[in-house]
Amino acid sequence: MRKKIVAGNWKMNTDDEEGLSLFSEIVNMVRDEKKGDQIAIICAPFTHLKSLVQLGSETVKIGAQNCHQKESGAYTGEISAKMIRSIGCEYVIIGHSERRQYFAESDELLAEKTKIALANGLTPLFCIGETLDERNNGNFFEILRAQLDNGIFGLDTEDFSKVIIAYEPVWAIGTGLTATAEQAQEVHEFIRAEVSGKYGEDVAEETSILYGGSCNPKNAAELFAQKDIDGGLIGGASLKSRDFTDIVKTFN
Ligand code: 13P
Repeated sequence: MRKKIVAGNWKMNTDDEEGLSLFSEIVNMVRDEKKGDQIAIICAPFTHLKSLVQLGSETVKIGAQNCHQKESGAYTGEISAKMIRSIGCEYVIIGHSERRQYFAESDELLAEKTKIALANGLTPLFCIGETLDERNNGNFFEILRAQLDNGIFGLDTEDFSKVIIAYEPVWAIGTGLTATAEQAQEVHEFIRAEVSGKYGEDVAEETSILYGGSCNPKNAAELFAQKDIDGGLIGGASLKSRDFTDIVKTFN
């Protein structure tokens, strides 16, 4: 059975005190709602990670939102996968559309980041997604295929099977415009078929594919009920403990 995952992405929000108190609320609320084999993750700003790991628990795991592609060296201002893992953090988002867009991160760079994350024992949450133009042009399946091919399909099977994929249509992020359950399912099915073509059906069946983009307590149930949607990557709603917990509860 593939894992059911609800991950929050706080992006560049909350100061230290706000982050700690939001996380404590989430841990307390999620404790009563989460099912055994389900995973809840909070991906927080770097400055919060060590405190959150210390506060953290079996209930809510901790992730970073990015890492550098090199092991170490003269890269002023950067954070390595090894540093992130060394404080007990277990997950890292790679390839979020905001990093692709604002920091010009290419598929090739993201492939390097994914490799270094895995080599250091982090589980990547690898994001793909098309823009509104790409959707309207009707060539979004090719765009998504290229993001998979160039981003993560260079991994060997052992490494690939540790990766979590997140489909986040760029036009649905922070816009209040959610993909319909049918639109999301169509893409998730496509992604699983691509994984199956590359790594075989067994691996594809075990790969968790999350949906992200204006996911909230009202639409989560319908999205998560789709057969190829294994949970969500939640932006805005993860900054509200009640909303995040309600999304986690959707699986119950
Ligand atoms: P929103 O849920 O705010 O649309 O953000 C989604 C996202 O980018 C999660 O990584």
